[in-house]
This record gives sequence, C-alpha cells and structure tokens, in this order.
Amino acid sequence: MSVKRVIVIGGGAGGMLAAGRAAEMGAQVTLLEKMERPGKKLLISGNARCNLTNARSLDGFISMYGGNGKFLYGAFQRFFRAELLKLLGSYGVKTLAEADGRIFPAAGNAAGVAHALERYMAKNGVEVVTGASVHAIEVRGGRVAEVKTAADACAADAVVLATGGASYPQTGSTGDGYRMAAGLGHTITRLRPALIPLTLKEQGLLENMQGISLHNVRLAALACASDDIKDYAMPKNDSGRGLGGRSPRPPLIECRTGDLIFTHYGVSGPAVLLMSLAVTDALESTPVSLAMDLLPGKTGHRLRHELQEAFDRHGSRHVHNILAELLPGRIAGTLFHIAGIGPQIKANQVTALQRESLVTAIKSLRFTVGRPRPLAGAMVTAGGVRLDEVDPHTLQSKLVKGLYFCGEVLDIDADTGGFNLQAAFSTGWLAGESAALPG
Ligand SMILES: Cc1cc2nc3c(=O)[nH]c(=O)nc-3n(C[C@H](O)[C@H](O)[C@H](O)COP(=O)(O)OP(=O)(O)OC[C@H]3O[C@@H](n4cnc5c(N)ncnc54)[C@H](O)[C@@H]3O)c2cc1C
Repeated sequence: MSVKRVIVIGGGAGGMLAAGRAAEMGAQVTLLEKMERPGKKLLISGNARCNLTNARSLDGFISMYGGNGKFLYGAFQRFFRAELLKLLGSYGVKTLAEADGRIFPAAGNAAGVAHALERYMAKNGVEVVTGASVHAIEVRGGRVAEVKTAADACAADAVVLATGGASYPQTGSTGDGYRMAAGLGHTITRLRPALIPLTLKEQGLLENMQGISLHNVRLAALACASDDIKDYAMPKNDSGRGLGGRSPRPPLIECRTGDLIFTHYGVSGPAVLLMSLAVTDALESTPVSLAMDLLPGKTGHRLRHELQEAFDRHGSRHVHNILAELLPGRIAGTLFHIAGIGPQIKANQVTALQRESLVTAIKSLRFTVGRPRPLAGAMVTAGGVRLDEVDPHTLQSKLVKGLYFCGEVLDIDADTGGFNLQAAFSTGWLAGESAALPG
C-alpha cells in the first residue's frame, strides 16, 4: 500500500500534534506554517508560562467548554492529560499542578513545550515549511486533492486544517481557516471574542480609577441598565461554565469572583475575562451592567455595623482614612464621590443617608458595559467550524472526504485554566491519527 500524504495547515499547538502523530503513524507529512516559525501563540500563552492543561476530572473538564464540550469526548478518550504529560515528559518537559488545578511546565516557560513539540515532529520525520501561507484547498470528486500556497501546490491524500482562531493575528492566527472551510461548504458559527477585557461607559469615573487593582471581588453581569438594579442583591454563588450547572436567573447573566483591574477603557483581570463571552453575547440584545461587590466576605449588614462603629470611635478622623483600612486607598475617592461624601468630611459628619450610599457603593458598585472590544485582542475566538459537520470520533469533515479539523478553528472555546490548549492538543492528536489511517 502506498504511503499516505498528509498536509497539515498551521503549526500551532493543534497542528504540531497532528503532524507529529500522523508521521508517527507512518504517513508522509508536511506542515505548512505561514509565520517564520511554528508555535508563536503557544510561546505567549499563560504569560509565556503556558498553562497547558488542568487537573480537573474528565466531566469537570468537559463542562468548561459550555454546550459544545460533549464533542470533545472522542478526542479526550484517545489523548487526554495523562497522554499529553507523558509525551512532553518523554522530551524532557516536567510539569507541575498548582493548587487551583492549573498545570504548567515546571521550568516555567512555554518555550520548552514548543521545543518539545518541534522535536516530536522532527523525530517522526515531519517536513516543516515556514513562511508558507495556504490560501486554498482543492477538492476533486468530493475528496481533498491539493493545497495551494502563493508559491506552490502540494498534492494531498488528507489535509488537517489547524489554522487556529482569528485573535492575536500577530501570532499568525488571522482567520484564514474559517474562510477556507466556508469555501468548501462548511458553516462557520458566529465568531466573537472570548476571554477579553470589557469596556465601561463611565469614562469620567475611570479617569481616576485607571490602574486600581482589587482582589477577590464578586462581579455580577446583569441584563439591564445600571439604574434599573437599585434593589439588586448580589448573588451569593458564582455562576458560569463548569460551576456545577448553576445557571443564572435573569437579569443575572453571569457572576464570578476574582481579581480585577481598572484600565483607561474599562476593566480586565481573571473575573472579567471569564464572563466576557456571556456579556458579549448578551450585548446583542440588551444593555448590560456590571455590579461589583468589593467586599464579598462581609454582608451589607455587617459592613454597615462596622462602618458605624468606626465612625463613632474615630469621629474626628477623615472618613478617607477609615475606609483605607478596608479597601485600596485610591478607590475611596470614587466611592465617596458616588455616595456624595466630600473629600474633607470627618467621620462624625457623615449622615445616615451618606453611610447607606457608601455601603451600597461598596456592596454593589455599578457600571454600564460599552461595546465589545475587537476580536483581535481576545485570548480565544468563540465560534468556528460547526461541530455537527465534523465527525467527533475522527475529526473528519462530513462534507469533504480527507479534510480534518483541530484546535481553535473548530467551534470550541473554554474558560481559562489550560482547557483551550488541551482541546487543541487532543483534537490535534486525533485529527493527525485519523488523517494517517488508510481510507
Ligand atoms: C495571550 C494568550 C494567552 C493564552 N494562554 C493560554 C493558556 O495559558 N492556556 C490555554 O489553554 N490557552 C491559552 N490561550 C489560548 C490557546 O493559546 C489557543 O487556544 C491555542 O493555542 C490554539 O491552538 P491552535 O493550534 O488551534 O491555533 P494557533 O496556536 O493559533 O495556531 C494556528 C497556526 O496556524 C497558522 N496559520 C494560520 N493561517 C495559516 C495559513 N493560511 N497558512 C499556513 N499557516 C497558517 C498560524 O500562523 C499559527 O501558527 C492563550 C491565548 C492567548 C492569545
């Protein structure tokens, strides 16, 4: 039987696994990468530390991808965390799990992971061609036949489309795969940014808040204008992907607890990134507000009591100094402004109404979310090749024989935590293996 000729388009996490595995299976494999080297996004992932997977159970893992997660069972059954860590280990990459379950290379750098995958490809004889931007896949008689770059045309028995998403285009992921797949008849579900900071409309307030970072804030996104949430009590539990199936009730869109930082345009930080996709989707049909509980560990009742006690005890002190013991000093100015408390007011001059406004500002600081930021700045692209047009057991297209998909080009995205990379690695492995099989 003649050797199967497999072309992998794109040398990211998914493409490198696909190429290495197809070659290991005995195929003659060429990886075409448009940039000057493969793995550019991998190199910057996890702040260049590369959070490559997570210690969660399989079902817990699947829940992190929302409704589309079930599609991944097939790939995870073939190649999951243990297989990934074993493969990396065989190329000298030791890993360690942090207390929250995220798994990183022990050496603390993504470069070691990229290097290991390059060695995996080299060992199995993959031909890597860089600076090769593919613009078309030729299909004849319902089967892939050829892959075209500006300079060349390469005959192929099987093609793995591993071009990634359309965010961080400087890494090479410019959405080409979506255009090629659509050209072959595939449906591309709506592309939108996931894991991206949010813009806020309160520019006046933000001017003074830029750079303030807050720890362990509870953040609720609500499908209404900020003026309409006057009596809204912050939810007690987080809701969102992978949080035990707790689905938020309207007007709540999502609630997350974590760190955040104010920027000149809005807010960023882990809690914000995690809820950004749900917020972006909601913005299509409704105004969205953010309510922040700056001290989720204290009930409103307890905070009110503690503030009053402090005001009584230190009547001649400026309220600013009293609040600085509870919250970062720079946010106090904003809270006082919202509560109508002047900068020079002493604790014994605060009225009951002002104290109530201050408690509300701390327990439910409100902002209005502005337009979504551009897709280019998102960590992940949500949307992609529609999953019911792809066989989950082989990752072969149901429309074009010999065409396989892996990684972010598929309609798969997840929360932060190593889930996006594990999906790319696992689908890459399965796509490469399937592409190399006879047939
Ligand atoms: C800043 C940042 C940090 C991240 N951190 C993490 C993290 O710590 N953990 C995690 O799980 N996920 C993380 N992610 C997400 C994760 O990196 C991606 O989901 C994952 O790398 C996708 O892999 P991929 O192989 O599908 O695509 P990519 O890695 O995007 O690779 C696609 C490749 O295809 C090439 N290509 C595109 N078009 C063509 C073409 N026409 N011809 C030839 N080649 C082409 C590109 O140049 C690129 O090399 C992060 C993302 C970003 C942006």
